[in-house]
Amino acid sequence: MPETVDEFRDSLTGDVLVEGDREYERARLCFNLLIDRRPAVIARCVDVDDIASALAFGQARGLEIAVRGGGHNPAGHCAVHDGLVIDLSRMRDVRVDPEKERAISQGGATWLDFDTAAQAHGLVTPGGVVGSTGVTGLALGGGIGHLTAQYGLTCDNLLVAELVTPAGEIVRASEDENPELLWGLRGGGGNFGVVARAEFRLHPLERVVGGRLEYEGVGIAQALRLFRDLAADGPRELSIQAQLATDESLAPKLVVVPCCTGEEDNPEALHPLRTVRGLVNDGVRRQSFLEQQRIFDPGYGVDRNYWKGHFVGELPDELIDDLIGRMPALGRPPGGILIESLHGAPKDVDPASAALGYRDAAFNVSVMASWIDPAHDEESIAWARETAAVIEPWSVSGGYANYMQADEPLDRVRAAFGPESFRRLQALKSRYDPDNVLHRNQNIPPAG
Ligand SMILES: Cc1cc2nc3c(=O)[nH]c(=O)nc-3n(C[C@H](O)[C@H](O)[C@H](O)COP(=O)(O)OP(=O)(O)OC[C@H]3O[C@@H](n4cnc5c(N)ncnc54)[C@H](O)[C@@H]3O)c2cc1C
Repeated sequence: MPETVDEFRDSLTGDVLVEGDREYERARLCFNLLIDRRPAVIARCVDVDDIASALAFGQARGLEIAVRGGGHNPAGHCAVHDGLVIDLSRMRDVRVDPEKERAISQGGATWLDFDTAAQAHGLVTPGGVVGSTGVTGLALGGGIGHLTAQYGLTCDNLLVAELVTPAGEIVRASEDENPELLWGLRGGGGNFGVVARAEFRLHPLERVVGGRLEYEGVGIAQALRLFRDLAADGPRELSIQAQLATDESLAPKLVVVPCCTGEEDNPEALHPLRTVRGLVNDGVRRQSFLEQQRIFDPGYGVDRNYWKGHFVGELPDELIDDLIGRMPALGRPPGGILIESLHGAPKDVDPASAALGYRDAAFNVSVMASWIDPAHDEESIAWARETAAVIEPWSVSGGYANYMQADEPLDRVRAAFGPESFRRLQALKSRYDPDNVLHRNQNIPPAG
């Protein structure tokens, strides 16, 4: 067992960064600049042996341990002050088997890595909408994106995972081996081990009809109602998201982003949204799936973020009006409210196949405050909390673990699963991480 950081560095195939190293400042950076932490050691692992060594070194030295995939979690769980970061950014290989329609993705791969590899064979799995987000981190919390209605949540397409537990054991989870662990990984996050490799089901798809529909003025409320109705009654080959924002004048703006995988170049289902009053830009066209995946592409580590939201069972007119009414109080762009539809394929899947508990919700409504100036921290966080309180009366199934800040109480994490699933997750935690070594996450404490 290495005793010092230098011995630890020598023992790894990957590399180790400490304060003062050239790449340390970039490597410690989270997507969310609100989180500013200085780890004692960043271990950039390249294989399962490195991961096991890092877990052993961190525990032997009494260091708090964080796991970093794409660095996107808004809670900043990938960084820990004075602790050890197990950084998987050098494990980004994605291998595609086009015959079997399967992809094996290393634990630090991003969606850009994954989509690029899969699209080379005309294949996809439903993933996140931003290229720099980690595949594994997103999949372990569920995964909502441009293909949710067609192919389900990302975790519904997770078939196999290979983990290193805090005890250094390598465990495989699939329907045949440790199926209870596979169930827990579908929603339960990074609580049970560090996932070195994950295998996903792929689906044939190259081109989609998608892009941005932008609205301004009084027509926004009607456009948002049409969005809601389309999500409820629209065809299965249509996934759709909406985002409320503002400009400098603080007038609310709306962006609706459909992704259609049917045959029509001009999908009939979209006509109401493409003709409604208030439409100021229609960017919908047939394009490659990789182009669709670039619609939302924020810079990494450029602004401060505080997110809070709820799954809702419906999006009544009253709530739509209240959400629009909250936008001027944001005070300045950027920031907004993201509404992701959960219709379609997530409802087809046997709920018993995954730990997550929000499959029955209609929408995920997330208040996303983003700002640059630290002087605006307090008011931006207050805006997010107050706006989320407006949504709460319609809340079902708690909040989305993937978007939770670190200040969410355990009850909110529990509500995201329901009491029975939470109890099973705690039993899994007791088995694979009884000392709660992996607690920098939406934490499931061990039973008892
Ligand atoms: C700009 C942006 C866009 C997003 N878009 C979407 C979206 O379209 N759909 C969606 O559903 N979510 C989306 N998310 C949320 C995202 O899914 C979660 O924040 C997720 O946790 C990010 O994973 P990561 O690896 O990038 O983050 P990190 O911060 O690196 O990791 C977060 C946590 O995930 C766990 N983890 C990550 N990798 C591993 C691993 N290999 N083994 C074990 N545990 C691991 C760890 O607990 C870690 O603390 C987005 C977030 C941002 C900031």
